[in-house]
Amino acid sequence: MSEGLGEDDVAIELEAVSEPGAGIGRVVRAGERAQVLIGKRVLVGPVDPCGECEVCRRGGGPVCPLARRRETRTQTTIVAAGRWVVTLGEGLELPHPAGAAVPGAIALAYTLYARTGVGPREPVVVIGATPISRFLIEILLAKGISPAIVANPDHGPWVDWLLGKGVTVARTTRVDEARATCTAAFAAQGLGARPWRVIVTDGAETATGVALAGPRATLTVLAPAGPLSGDLAAREVTVIGVAGVHPDLVVEVAAMCVKGDIDLTGGTAAGPTPDHRAIVTPV
Ligand SMILES: [Zn+2]
Repeated sequence: MSEGLGEDDVAIELEAVSEPGAGIGRVVRAGERAQVLIGKRVLVGPVDPCGECEVCRRGGGPVCPLARRRETRTQTTIVAAGRWVVTLGEGLELPHPAGAAVPGAIALAYTLYARTGVGPREPVVVIGATPISRFLIEILLAKGISPAIVANPDHGPWVDWLLGKGVTVARTTRVDEARATCTAAFAAQGLGARPWRVIVTDGAETATGVALAGPRATLTVLAPAGPLSGDLAAREVTVIGVAGVHPDLVVEVAAMCVKGDIDLTGGTAAGPTPDHRAIVTPV
């Protein structure tokens, strides 16, 4: 029953998919060493890192040169490494089709958070009106961090959602105004002049992030990012690139969704693009 599968592989019949390359489904076949997964409902991400190479050992799973990458959009059954799928059930239940976003946009948001290494009482600025920003803000709030968000005032529904979350919103396209609003917000939180953690989720907004990253700031950019200018070095800014979901983190965000820290149903949509919600597509 396992022809064509590696001994650790599973074949998953997808129930729903979500960008980037994520899905939820049921294991229908398995290699010799993954038999225990047959019949289980699982989450599957876009990439299976090898887990063994020096890049993986340094936490670089998403850019592992030996990784297997998948395209879930056109397939109903996919093959994945059993070690990286997250098994649902036994308290970890996710709704259909919203659950498909968990190993996608939501895990990507968590990867941005984790790679930035945000500590308690650090000033965090988020830029980009995307589903990933939305989930990142919920993750930060759940971790006790109140970020400041730079938002284009024309993005009405996005600004409304942010205000509903009680976070500071710099409603401007001007960098000097955004900097002033964030500075005031962090001063009010008693964070003083600590170097900022600037996280950009939309490559088109990279220049704003570059401009706001002051001396000794960190600037986290999600690929594909825009140009990163040389004067970042003159301010000793640390640039952190995030290329994709780290599969190790999927189980953590699934638990946060079950707990209600992340509004999975509100943050996903099965229809055409409502701007800052992740699209999930039943298969
Ligand atoms: Zn590797």
